Amino acid sequence: MQDCIFCKIVNKEIPAEVVYEDNDIMAFVDVKPVAPIHLLFIPKKHIPTVMDLEEEDAALIGKIHLVAAKVAKDYNLEDRGYRLVTNCKRDAGQLVFHVHYHFFAGRPFQWPPG
Ligand code: AMP
Repeated sequence: MQDCIFCKIVNKEIPAEVVYEDNDIMAFVDVKPVAPIHLLFIPKKHIPTVMDLEEEDAALIGKIHLVAAKVAKDYNLEDRGYRLVTNCKRDAGQLVFHVHYHFFAGRPFQWPPG
């Protein structure tokens, strides 16, 4: 997708602090962090929202969860844990229309969210 900022990160057209990358998935530091550790996990494939996912994407989304758990271990978060969140469309506050999971860690988080 030509105008998608996350596709540009995938294609290395704009820089990002990448913490994980394989053929399917990328994780990088959020440019406006709201937690001590704030990463974004994305599929390299352009999918606008989680409501656009298809059957064939199920393994890809499952893999994001597995990779997030692996990265959490790299950050020594075995005990403290982390929050993995995806925003879908307007009411959730989605601003970038390329599926992404926010990975928050390093402090306690409120539940329920505001
Ligand atoms: P959302 O509101 O769920 O769509 O969140 C989009 C997130 O992408 C926000 O937390 C932004 O700070 C983050 N973001 C936008 N552009 C970039 C970028 N170039 N590099 C890293 N994070 C970005």
